[in-house]
Amino acid sequence: MKTAISIESRLTSRYVQGYAHLDNWERVCDARKSKSYMVAAPSDEEASDGGSTALLVVLTPAELDAAKNTYRRVAGNGRLSFTRWMNRAIEESLSGGGCGHEYDCCGCASYYADAHRTKPREFSVIVRLSYNY
Ligand SMILES: [Zn+2]
Repeated sequence: MKTAISIESRLTSRYVQGYAHLDNWERVCDARKSKSYMVAAPSDEEASDGGSTALLVVLTPAELDAAKNTYRRVAGNGRLSFTRWMNRAIEESLSGGGCGHEYDCCGCASYYADAHRTKPREFSVIVRLSYNY
């Protein structure tokens, strides 16, 4: 079972995580993500630790072409390789959280994704969940 997702690259980072949608984003391509499964259970000792899950992000050949076109258009001077840029775009697309509290936050969830290209059209992603206390 795979779910459709949209990969977007964050072009600016003027805002904190909860308001990241106010920054400029560029649509990269469509993709599908696999069902995620838990790879690290939440720790009992740390209330902020929500555990980690793993999933795959998979592109079709046409989606890979679309991603490469976006890379050529926005990545500028090729300072990042396509693979590293794409890893980062997937991390940005799967990270986030609704928290915009400057203080007195109690328990909003935040997601931190770490992506690695494992095949030309496949990326392996670990998403760590944590709660703000
Ligand atoms: Zn909060």
